[in-house]
Amino acid sequence: MSSAGAPANADSPAAALDCDVVVIGGGPAGSATAAWLARAGRRVIVVERSQFPRFHIGESLLASVNDALAAIGAADIVRKAGFPQKWGATFLTADGSLERYADFSVASAVASPQTWQVERSRFDHLLLQHAASSGADVRERTQALDVDFDPSGVSVSTRTGDGNRAVLRAACVIDASGRDTLLSRKFDLRLPEPKLANVAVFSHYSGVPRAEGRRSGDIRIVARPDLGWFWLIPISTELMSVGVVLPQSAMKATGADFDPTDFLEARIAETPAVGRLLAHAKREWPVRVERDFSFGSRAYAGDRWLLAGDAGSFLDPVFSTGVAIALESGVEAAQAADAALASGHLSRAQFSRYERRQQQRYRSFRRFVIGFYTPEFRDLFFAEDPPPRMFGALVTVFAGYWHPPWRVRLWVRAFFALMRVQKLVGFTPHIFPGAADVGQARAAAGQDAKSS
Ligand SMILES: Cc1cc2nc3c(=O)[nH]c(=O)nc-3n(C[C@H](O)[C@H](O)[C@H](O)COP(=O)(O)OP(=O)(O)OC[C@H]3O[C@@H](n4cnc5c(N)ncnc54)[C@H](O)[C@@H]3O)c2cc1C
Repeated sequence: MSSAGAPANADSPAAALDCDVVVIGGGPAGSATAAWLARAGRRVIVVERSQFPRFHIGESLLASVNDALAAIGAADIVRKAGFPQKWGATFLTADGSLERYADFSVASAVASPQTWQVERSRFDHLLLQHAASSGADVRERTQALDVDFDPSGVSVSTRTGDGNRAVLRAACVIDASGRDTLLSRKFDLRLPEPKLANVAVFSHYSGVPRAEGRRSGDIRIVARPDLGWFWLIPISTELMSVGVVLPQSAMKATGADFDPTDFLEARIAETPAVGRLLAHAKREWPVRVERDFSFGSRAYAGDRWLLAGDAGSFLDPVFSTGVAIALESGVEAAQAADAALASGHLSRAQFSRYERRQQQRYRSFRRFVIGFYTPEFRDLFFAEDPPPRMFGALVTVFAGYWHPPWRVRLWVRAFFALMRVQKLVGFTPHIFPGAADVGQARAAAGQDAKSS
């Protein structure tokens, strides 16, 4: 994808530029990018539209986040912040009769199995402050309006909260604007994901009982017979983030009368495992809604630009991959930009490894996400006594390690092969009789959306 035909050479004198790299967005992707580049001695300006701390959804982290935090020198900062410790995930069926506990430590490829559940307002603020203390020039309440490319650099037009406009000149721009996808919209890169046309309705509650000991910080994922699911994430000693994810058709079926609070309460009431846990809970926040969140991308880089985190693509939240991908891709985008600046060539070809990894990471997690919305995935996942090595392989990916050693990959392949067999002959009992019809209806809806 070429950026308005900009030639590849960064041949302008660096002094004529305001900085080496402008990073758009100060979420986890932008902060990781900026911190890494600043620590490598690059001149970085981060423009962030909001004033932090600000609310953001996406509170459950994966074990792989530890690697990215270490790479930007923020591991200690996060460790000292006192967030609830997360060791894994507990998956339950809607009536609570089946439970599968995925502790990250059962996966031998996961070096540091303990991670965190975070209030994103605090977590994101800590990372943005870390980017600033690493040497990045962080400008909050500053929105990037557009980016123009020319032979000697990029021009990022900005507007502050007070209405002041400015143009920042840099050798390269990294778009980490989240699902606002500034450059992706400019270059028309978004690829729809009709099979993942879901809606999430959520809030924060107090008074929700938790498990004892090591499992008290788990995310609980409650699978519903309609192939939707609930999350329960303990984000502080008091608060539990609770949300339901369903196909958008479920929301549309309520028509003009859709009321997020009524909708969430009705779904809680009809899901016994969640209803029991929330029997004495108090809602502490308004109910919020997110939709149209899943999409892929035709490209992740071009001449003088890269996309990191959600600004490139986003997958459904079921496996909590968002922040892990944002941090990891942020670090990798920074490394790619640094190498390109050192070589004096900022062409798309220079970023080919980065793009390839972004595509692979997306495809690897996507397979699991799409799988989760099929009855056969759930039949196998909740089946009694799964082979330990196969289960360990799945947990490796759930911990964020999308490209594990080949032995682990073979077990993952075996799981997907068994899923196909389960779909054809049903060799293990169906955990949700009738879910096959729902799955077919969903797949058909996906096809319809694709062809329309
Ligand atoms: C319902 C739901 C549940 C989720 N649950 C989880 C979860 O449990 N775990 C998990 O890991 N992930 C989860 N996610 C995903 C997670 O929220 C994102 O993947 C993550 O926040 C991506 O980080 P980012 O830095 O790419 O983007 P963001 O965190 O969105 O940050 C982008 C930043 O860019 C700023 N910005 C936007 N446009 C501009 C502009 N033009 N100029 C300047 N600044 C701009 C924004 O203000 C924002 O601060 C969930 C997502 C959804 C929708």
